[in-house]
Amino acid sequence: MGKSSGKQPQGAKRERAATARPPLSGDPTAIAAPLHRWYLAARRDLPWRQTRDPYAVWLSEIMCQQTRVSVVIPYYERFLARFPTPSDLAAADEAEVLELWAGLGYYSRGRNLHRAAGTIVREFGGEFPSEAEEIRSLPGVGEYTAAAIGSIVFGHTRPVIDGNVERVLARHGAIDGDPKRGEARRELREAAEHALDVDNPGDHNQGMMELGATVCTPRSPRCETCPIESSCRARALGTPETFPPPRARRTPETQHWLALVVGTRGRVTTIERSGVEELLPGHRGLPMIRWGGDDPPSAPEIRIAANRALVSLRITSKGSADTLDVLSAVAHSITHRRLRIHPVCIEGTIDNDSAQLIDGKSGARLPALFRKVIDAARRP
Ligand code: SF4
Repeated sequence: MGKSSGKQPQGAKRERAATARPPLSGDPTAIAAPLHRWYLAARRDLPWRQTRDPYAVWLSEIMCQQTRVSVVIPYYERFLARFPTPSDLAAADEAEVLELWAGLGYYSRGRNLHRAAGTIVREFGGEFPSEAEEIRSLPGVGEYTAAAIGSIVFGHTRPVIDGNVERVLARHGAIDGDPKRGEARRELREAAEHALDVDNPGDHNQGMMELGATVCTPRSPRCETCPIESSCRARALGTPETFPPPRARRTPETQHWLALVVGTRGRVTTIERSGVEELLPGHRGLPMIRWGGDDPPSAPEIRIAANRALVSLRITSKGSADTLDVLSAVAHSITHRRLRIHPVCIEGTIDNDSAQLIDGKSGARLPALFRKVIDAARRP
């Protein structure tokens, strides 16, 4: 592939639908050297870049998925302080792991970390595995994470392809189409292989991700400061933001739930939720009931549904059904679900071995959904 020969004339904006392939070509082999120089000079000083401990790098990679780095840092530090080795993590209760995870979202990641730590202890004698296929075999570790850990810690020559890298490569090579499918996916993988700096695979992979996160951003990429600008085809075409094409957004589903806030004198009872709950399984929190309809339930409907559930949830209420206090709905979103939580305040107790009465402070480690509901119930 040849190098780009310059910018398109003013006003010659590409018509996406009508264009077959633009004439300029971004050569992926032109990426490695300037990217490496830029990465060494511009990389952010992040705590997991101070270590080559595969366990710590693994934690950071899992925590950083779908979560901003600034949010991850305090979680990463707390987690490592509490569980400094895979054996420490494996020996912990899942409930404690999820409690430390609370607020990071996507809780299946925390659960998989715990399971994977068990695998490391059982199958690898407590040492984080070093072979690509062994790393890939850990619960919750996909192709991307295995390539990231393998290249950063063990020097494996495998390119990382996440959303940031897809965007950089799609723009650099002006590769059109959905990066997750078909021909565009194949071309991006090929470009990633050609672009890889085999002498510095860890720095290269981190450099690509860093470039996508800080310079080649989804909107308003800072091409004038980009180390690979001179070979970037989308830059030459003047249309970087049109690569890759926007994906069709999934319409979030709206669900209504009742949250039972059971307690007395300003204190609220939390329980260990079972591992098969539809919402936040395995977390300490409040008893919840799914409301079947699409329309919001009325206060009388909520009281009837809550009252019916008291026996099965072993809740003893001091008042009668019509004294249950129904508060305004609390909004919360989880992945593709838009939740409307209807808190029902009940003066009473829960007959459950895991029941604990908590005050405002001790609720701080509950998942955000429960914290919101409890805060709403505390408001005068
Ligand atoms: S920042 Fe601009 S020049 Fe750099 S890869 Fe992205 S689109 Fe190309």
